Amino acid sequence: MSYVIQGETGDWEVVIGLEVHAQVISNAKLFSGAATAFGAEANTQVSFIDAGFPGMLPVINAMAVEQAVRTGLGLKARINKRSVFARKNYFYADLPQGYQISQYELPIVGLGTLILDMPDGSTREVGIERLHLEQDAGKSMHDQHPSKTFVDLNRSGVALMEIVSKPDMRTPEEAGAYLRKLRAILRYLGTCDGNMEEGSMRCDVNVSVRRPGEGFRTRCEIKNVNSVRFVMQAIEYEAKRHVEVYENGGKIEQETRLFDPGKGETRSLRNKENAHDYRYFPDPDLLPLEFDDAFVEKIRASLPELPDEKKQRFIADYGLSPYDATVLVFEKESADYFEKVAKGRDGKTAANWVTTNLFGALNKLGKGVTESPVSAEQLGALIDLINDGTLSGRLAKDVFEIMIETGDDPAKIVEERGMKQVTDTGAIEKAIDEVMAANMDKVEDIRAGKDKLLGWFTGQVMKATQGKANPQAVNDLLKKKILG
Ligand code: ADP
Ligand code: MG
Repeated sequence: MSYVIQGETGDWEVVIGLEVHAQVISNAKLFSGAATAFGAEANTQVSFIDAGFPGMLPVINAMAVEQAVRTGLGLKARINKRSVFARKNYFYADLPQGYQISQYELPIVGLGTLILDMPDGSTREVGIERLHLEQDAGKSMHDQHPSKTFVDLNRSGVALMEIVSKPDMRTPEEAGAYLRKLRAILRYLGTCDGNMEEGSMRCDVNVSVRRPGEGFRTRCEIKNVNSVRFVMQAIEYEAKRHVEVYENGGKIEQETRLFDPGKGETRSLRNKENAHDYRYFPDPDLLPLEFDDAFVEKIRASLPELPDEKKQRFIADYGLSPYDATVLVFEKESADYFEKVAKGRDGKTAANWVTTNLFGALNKLGKGVTESPVSAEQLGALIDLINDGTLSGRLAKDVFEIMIETGDDPAKIVEERGMKQVTDTGAIEKAIDEVMAANMDKVEDIRAGKDKLLGWFTGQVMKATQGKANPQAVNDLLKKKILG
């Protein structure tokens, strides 16, 4: 998979690294007991700590620590049993402390890996540089008053995991696959709901370009991009911008930029600050965070089966293609649904029904698998009706459509609407005789060797029986009657 930007002076390769801020699922904030529920009235979930009152002391939330370790284990990463909280100093109206408590030199989680599942079924590995815990800032609201900015501190102090990738991605598609996979893993783990629209997962995109084979060049960071699609668009735009600058003999300055989804372009926000601008130092109010192996092992033992392992199991146990397995494990609810349908039935058939028919129908309805009008048991029952000969594949599709509309059991639909497949040879023969009588010229053509026309006859007989005839029986009888 190569993605090359062709310039006047030769080819350019794109280099991408992503920093994801993932809001930790926890009822309390990182260093205070204030609530974290989304959508609460402004400034109703704020403790003295979150409001930056002098003399308040932070107390670490054990649940947030567990969640970070859990996420680290899910990313197959190194867990640092000793890590240190540091103050990152900067001024902002929605940061009343005047600093953010974060982690700098010693984060809670070190090197890990994430496997990308590309649309063509191939995979690729991306390195995880680190994961650290930090506080979120409050929210400045510029749209509440014509001349004033309001500040809501409900988000102030909420626990975030900053997950930093290595600059290992080379295409916008890989960046998209990275975000989708990371979100899937976080959701499986129950450590972040991954909802980019609500801001519980936010992405900073680092982009640079280079000549194939040369070292890294200067990157620009595009802040807070809030959908996978926008991330991919921002990369495409930014990479082209770099190429243009270089080709015109210019220089790229390291800077922080914003993506404007309306215009599809990035704009400079400020020159990128360097780490030393923040005057990081260990937070004197907090001891180093330390835990033992038993703590880590207990969390490890509670991990669910994750998407990669599930995918491998689906390929091995059900004979699925890597592509189908990837589609099915993307959401745990879909994987569970599939396994219920596949239980005691052919895995590939089950996968086919779920990924094409069910997902297609749900897509049209704009519903998720948990809101499916057709239960896994009902879809399984439909497959059974094909297997026992009650329904042809074609009839089953019609029955399925009605199931989606009504939520009824397939057996009930078949019974009430008389949709059973006709296997009674008498009835089929009668239909064949009629079609043959009306098309004797074509019958002669077949007898003269044009056996491709047999398919046409099958179609006509199926039509005459409203699709209810057993196609195999039609085929067999046709051959016997025409060719003898
Ligand atoms: P900062 O906090 O200054 O943004 P981080 O170390 O947190 O620095 O994150 C840097 C991010 O930029 C990482 O995701 C890394 O992979 C990425 N990155 C580093 N160098 C480059 C480069 N030359 N091109 C693109 N991305 C890069
Ligand atoms: Mg960073």
